[in-house]
Amino acid sequence: MRLMENKTIARTLRLLSQLMELHEENPFKIKSLASAAFTIDKLPFSISKKSVVEMEGIKGLGKSTAVKVDELLQTGTIAEMEDFFERTPAGVIEIMGIKGLGPKKVLTIWKDMGIENIGELYYACNENRLIEAKGFGLKTQEEIRKAIEFKIASNGRYLYAQVEEVAESLLKQLTGIFPSAQISFVGDYRRRCEIIDGLDLLIGAEFKEVFHDALLELQSLTLTHTETHKIEAQHVTGIKIVFNFCPKENFFTELVLQTGAEPHVAELKKRLGDAILHAESEEEVFSKAGLPYIEPELREGIFEFKLAETGKMPELVEWHDLKGSLHNHSTWSDGVHSLEQMALFCRDELHLQYLGICDHSKSAFYAKGLSEERVLAQHEEINQLNLRLNGFKIFKGIESDILFDGSLDYPAEILATFDFVVASVHSVFKMNEEKATSRLIAAIENPYTTILGHPTGRLLLSRNGYPIDYKKVIDACAANKVVIEINSNPLRLDLDWRWHQYAIEKGVMLSINPDAHSTNGFYDTHYGVLTARKGGVTAANCLNALSVQEIEEYFKQQKEA
Ligand SMILES: [Zn+2]
Ligand SMILES: [Zn+2]
Repeated sequence: MRLMENKTIARTLRLLSQLMELHEENPFKIKSLASAAFTIDKLPFSISKKSVVEMEGIKGLGKSTAVKVDELLQTGTIAEMEDFFERTPAGVIEIMGIKGLGPKKVLTIWKDMGIENIGELYYACNENRLIEAKGFGLKTQEEIRKAIEFKIASNGRYLYAQVEEVAESLLKQLTGIFPSAQISFVGDYRRRCEIIDGLDLLIGAEFKEVFHDALLELQSLTLTHTETHKIEAQHVTGIKIVFNFCPKENFFTELVLQTGAEPHVAELKKRLGDAILHAESEEEVFSKAGLPYIEPELREGIFEFKLAETGKMPELVEWHDLKGSLHNHSTWSDGVHSLEQMALFCRDELHLQYLGICDHSKSAFYAKGLSEERVLAQHEEINQLNLRLNGFKIFKGIESDILFDGSLDYPAEILATFDFVVASVHSVFKMNEEKATSRLIAAIENPYTTILGHPTGRLLLSRNGYPIDYKKVIDACAANKVVIEINSNPLRLDLDWRWHQYAIEKGVMLSINPDAHSTNGFYDTHYGVLTARKGGVTAANCLNALSVQEIEEYFKQQKEA
């Protein structure tokens, strides 16, 4: 028999009652257990010193609660609860811990929407999928999103996109206050890393006290530490910010040294010897090392020196190189805007030449995936729209689920009706590397697959992807002329930039796809472009840098092959 605080016992019973509710047990039992937990929490004496009979006598506790408390004190747990744990994915239990989410809402999230962990829930919030779910709404969705962001931030790690807004507005403020100072971000943020631990700035200026005072004035910052060449601060969002100071004449050398990742800087120092301290530009530093200018995002020490030495320094892709947007959703499945609204936005706001619409396929029940009849109905709408979009073209695509065995979820005669097919995994993530790899390869070998969507299914900071043998998957794409997606959602950024060069070497094309679920979602393309740049991707490597005529021809040839 162990002693346990009333608070702990009450918490355990409350959790049990929530689990019962999640599994839709008898509402009467749930209610009486929850109220017993409340009673125990308020008792003026320790219940763990009482016998079962004495417990039964306490007002508000019944026999069944007394037995449960006794079991908890005897064994440290309650068998019924362990049984629920077994039947509930660990991620769903974690979701239950999010503020504002009762068991009823968690049940909807889990069973109706097919979401099994916090990462997927965050992703769903970002795709506005919660708005229409029963018992939710925009407000609840925003609260959940905030709570999850808070949870992620409490680990001190951020998605690039979460930091970007803070970073850019801070830089604006600083250059406003000190127009003559040299100020630049350095470190992970300047290298456009997908995950950021904090912001580092370099300031080429002597007037540190003035800076210190100015930073003190900024409402959004709390200064936490000051040294001779450094001020550390914390932003209201929790992001750690370090201001590094250096003499003006050292600015560009320091900029290079503080921007590069360690392996990059080590290699660069080898080439520089103990040559310079002074340079007028970053270009000058690189040229003193016998190198062409290397873009900040490439300075990881992984492949940039090899590219520089072989004269293959790429001209990195930019957003305006992209002529169209493939892989997007509309109200036909889980998107927020209609097909027409999505098309007009691409044409009139983004000045693109084409839109590839890829609503979910029939297996994605939680996302209103398209039945075969609805596929044909959508195609009819696309035909009509294409007649009146004045040269702008909607391509008929689909995001077809890759099933457990690697097959796609439509028969060949339906797959043949699309201009192109994005094949993606959306379910059964728990697989070993061998299984997951052969599953993807089977999908890649399907003659109708045009693009492999978000290849690992990862959600950054919250869900590891299924493990794959990247080389085998990329080799299979090369052999079958399948394009690999760079999914631009800030949570995905999948294919990982570390594999872009291998894909390029093998002649595999990449497609920078926003996976937009609303017109606003197209702006995620920005993050896909940054990732592609980090991987050393050029416009020539990108499928959607093709013009509308070129890509039409490309799709046609793929279908004929
Ligand atoms: Zn998808
Ligand atoms: Zn999608």
